[in-house]
Amino acid sequence: MRDFVNTVDRDLGTDALATAAGLADFLRSHALLPGAHRTTERHRAAALRLREGLHEALELNHVGQDAPLTALDEVLRQLPVRLRWAGDGVVVAPTDGGVEGALAQVALAALEARAAEDWWRLKVCAFDECEWAFYDQSKNRSRSYCEYGCGNKVKTRAYRARQRADRAPALRGVR
Ligand SMILES: [Zn+2]
Repeated sequence: MRDFVNTVDRDLGTDALATAAGLADFLRSHALLPGAHRTTERHRAAALRLREGLHEALELNHVGQDAPLTALDEVLRQLPVRLRWAGDGVVVAPTDGGVEGALAQVALAALEARAAEDWWRLKVCAFDECEWAFYDQSKNRSRSYCEYGCGNKVKTRAYRARQRADRAPALRGVR
């Protein structure tokens, strides 16, 4: 699920789901889609809605607050899943072997994360130019930034902004 949210890379300015073929490549490379299935623009639109919704959900995990995510709820409701007996327990499984079933598997990963109490550790980096989905491994779940040094980037930026602010009055004095 984290890989799915990270199909858009703000740092590189790329989006693996920019085309229906890109969506198919992503799902195949994650063994979520058998080779024969075609992806359409309609599938891609659903995938983008799901990605956006999950992104919003991970943002909430910074503060651990409840919020109605209507758009996410709507896309989740349309996913083809059903409860089944798996021989040794009850499972939720997709009822469709195609693209919609593949998207359902992405969403089911979020369900599994919640069942494993891992869900609240999944966040998106708080640096607005990054927003990379990451797993917060800190003891008290207090991390705001991803593992790619965004915390430092934000610090450096704040430091430079302060320096500029300090210098500005002096420059005005010269003129
Ligand atoms: Zn980051």
